[in-house]
Amino acid sequence: MIAVLGTVSSYLFVDRELNRMYGAFVDVAEPELEAEAAETYALANVNVLAPEADRFIPGQSVIVEDGLIRTVGAGDVPEGIRAVDGQGMYLVPGFTDSHVHLWESANDLLLYVANGVTQVREMNGQPNNLAWKREIEEGRIGPEIFVVAPQFATFVGFEGVMVGWTQRKTIVRNRKDVERAVAAFKAAGYDALKSSSFLSRENYDQLSEVAAEAGMPLVGHIPVATDLDAVWRGNASEIAHIEELVKQLDKEFGGYGPDEAGAFLEFVRERSDDVAQNLVREGIMVTSTLDLVDSFHRQKSQLKEELQAAELEYENPGIAEGTVIASRGMGWLPEVNIYRWPEGMDERRQARSLIYWKAYAEAQHILLDAMLAHGVDILAGTDANVPVMVPGFSLHDELQAMNAAGMSSSEVLASATVKPAAFMASNTGEISAGRKAHLVLLRDNPLEDISATREIEMVMLGTHVFDRADLDAMLQSVADANAASRKVALAGK
Ligand SMILES: [Zn+2]
Repeated sequence: MIAVLGTVSSYLFVDRELNRMYGAFVDVAEPELEAEAAETYALANVNVLAPEADRFIPGQSVIVEDGLIRTVGAGDVPEGIRAVDGQGMYLVPGFTDSHVHLWESANDLLLYVANGVTQVREMNGQPNNLAWKREIEEGRIGPEIFVVAPQFATFVGFEGVMVGWTQRKTIVRNRKDVERAVAAFKAAGYDALKSSSFLSRENYDQLSEVAAEAGMPLVGHIPVATDLDAVWRGNASEIAHIEELVKQLDKEFGGYGPDEAGAFLEFVRERSDDVAQNLVREGIMVTSTLDLVDSFHRQKSQLKEELQAAELEYENPGIAEGTVIASRGMGWLPEVNIYRWPEGMDERRQARSLIYWKAYAEAQHILLDAMLAHGVDILAGTDANVPVMVPGFSLHDELQAMNAAGMSSSEVLASATVKPAAFMASNTGEISAGRKAHLVLLRDNPLEDISATREIEMVMLGTHVFDRADLDAMLQSVADANAASRKVALAGK
């Protein structure tokens, strides 16, 4: 009896610790905002991004009715419609981050809106994320959410129970499990299914079939146990990181180490055209997460600087402070950072580790070059809430990283607007009559300098127009709520 009580109480303790880490106990920000819902309004005197995302059309007025764009055109706003002066600024569709993790602090919803991110794709959805999606559809302030069900992983016995519980994955062993889970997710209203790295070959093929039968998109990781041919044969419509392709090519290569980094990159160069051609043929989109993978080696060798550069005051403090489970850190700060080197690693091994991770980052750039050359559809995504990707802010870093990696600013804007809208069938992503009024007014032209996406003057979310003061109030309220919920003070902030 005492043993049972002990088990139950340690279960409760760890469960509470997990909920704390995912942000369930973070104070909920409640900003005081000026914006009131308006049935009809107009944005006058703006440059409007063309649907092809390649140029701005000057001198436009956009009329919004019941949350939808009614007209876009030159000329005056009709009498009786409230007109907001766009002051000759640059109007773009709201941005989409195609790879985020919302977890349990609703404050992230405000961070997205304040950063002009009006749609997110949640990549390991939980029931509370589905509830937020519905609340936002009914008027709560937040981005439109495309919710991918908890990722599928193959584990047996006790390990399966632990992984399902602590990492909130869907644990399966056989086809029956897969069928049962897919039916339940479809009934619950999830938008897509995700394969994790830890799905067996068999279970991956089964998930691919069952997803197609259920009419649900299959997205996510390429399981370590399978290969690219299984992906080309299967029904995946998206790959969640360019990195997934790096991992598969590493496996084909035989597993590179620091001594083989150059030879591995040569191999990636040789294979990249074939990979890109298969992606195009199969119509598989790829999500970028370039900035995250580029940061791995820096998070090992200069984590303090990386944390200093991140907008840490806005990050869910539960996620940043993390926890340690079975001696594995799950968090951002130095003691818990998931990418940190093990304690006591000597300088020689550190140097070799850096060679490895720099090559790993370079491999994704080689693949990106090939994908761009062959016309693969790229979605901008950040893996927000994975260290050190702060929700909302990280999308602007990603757009800059994509631009620096060789994508034109027009391609970069498309990857965060019209392309994800097409993938998620969301009736957003371009400024034309009939689309939802998810709009961002920028002070400068992002086609000339992509960093202009950060210079946000207003965000339109259907019936709401949030001006800069409202957006600042959202950010301040999140910073305050987070500060009140922090257990570890922020260094140097
Ligand atoms: Zn992720």
